[in-house]
Amino acid sequence: MDFSDRIQRVEPSATLAISSLASELKADGADVIDLSVGEPDFPTPANVVEACETAMEDGHTGYPSSKGVPELREAIAEKLQGDGLPYEADNVIVTPGAKQALYETVQTVVDDGDEVVLLDPAWVSYEAMVKLAGGDLNRVDLAPHDFKLEPALDDLAEAVSDDTELLVVNSPSNPTGAVYSDAALEGVRDLAVEHDITVISDEIYERITYGAEFTSLGTLDGMFERTITVNGFSKAYSMTGWRLGYLAAPEEFVSEAAKLHSHSVSAATNFVQHAGLEALANTEDDVNEMVEAFHERRDRLVALLKQHDVDAGTPDGAFYLMIPVGEAQRASDASGEQSDPRADDQQWCEDALEQAHVATVPGSAFGAPGYARISYAASLDRIEEAVERLVESDLL
Ligand code: PMP
Ligand code: GLU
Repeated sequence: MDFSDRIQRVEPSATLAISSLASELKADGADVIDLSVGEPDFPTPANVVEACETAMEDGHTGYPSSKGVPELREAIAEKLQGDGLPYEADNVIVTPGAKQALYETVQTVVDDGDEVVLLDPAWVSYEAMVKLAGGDLNRVDLAPHDFKLEPALDDLAEAVSDDTELLVVNSPSNPTGAVYSDAALEGVRDLAVEHDITVISDEIYERITYGAEFTSLGTLDGMFERTITVNGFSKAYSMTGWRLGYLAAPEEFVSEAAKLHSHSVSAATNFVQHAGLEALANTEDDVNEMVEAFHERRDRLVALLKQHDVDAGTPDGAFYLMIPVGEAQRASDASGEQSDPRADDQQWCEDALEQAHVATVPGSAFGAPGYARISYAASLDRIEEAVERLVESDLL
């Protein structure tokens, strides 16, 4: 069979691949602690499940209108207005997961050879989406700046130009957990306006912050008209398997993206959208409880790592952190030759899975060789045990 060049440009999602590997090991009877995939370990709030059942019983089982159930588009617009973004329902497309919203956005904006700027480390699927669209990646590395954006603004200024078509910003960040400061976002704004760049603001971890103030990029002067705001239900409401997300953007963008939406997924699942309405309206306490639990886990994990001399910083959001791995190998070895840091972090993650039965994701998958991403969406007991096992296996 002859496969398209397009599909051969990309690899399967590393995050999903590792979590499948962990599941296979589990199925073989191994007690694997899965700190790989970014998936809240809480059940979806019961009232959301009930709303879905009711929607099915009420017959919301046919094709919904392509861009989304009107009540949900309205509720999403209201939520965004509450955040200071003056979107109306017509600015919203409801998608099967935020991933589809991002995919549609990239396909709508990026032509062959267009430049797309990513802030590394960046979530695995941005790169693949850009490659599928034929875009050229230009990556700005935040690793030398402790994953902060503000000190990297000069590097960003050097990277972007009038040729830059699209910039992707993800705060709170997957995989670093960084929440970008207002000063950093203002710096992004200045560059986006100067060079007329369209910006994706991926806000899927917006609700999951620990004391840091989250700012939505589209609220900054000059940004609303050039921002595609992407969000979803997976993380805040623990609804990963429901596949529900959305994008909000100027209407001219929405009518273009809606073409791809209607020809690919048709619509997000009808009764799931009705459950989404309940999630937006009546889950405040559940979300707060989950965020409190993540906060406690972050504190515990950071403290445990410190005890073993691993400085992972104290990320202010999401449920990830990056740990440096394989430093010994990263430094020049005795022969003076530099080993490949990419091999280091992949090797470390393989060893962690095989020897300690702890699943993590190599930083290379996010453009951050020499690091491993830990997702702390697991119970305190499991987090503690994971660290113990890594220490016992001499991996920390
Ligand atoms: N953006 C980021 C940064 C993510 O980590 C994820 C992974 N869940 C997504 C988007 C996509 O989420 P979903 O498709 O589950 O809504
Ligand atoms: N975004 C999550 C992660 O980074 C889920 C997996 C995926 O969609 O990539 O682990």
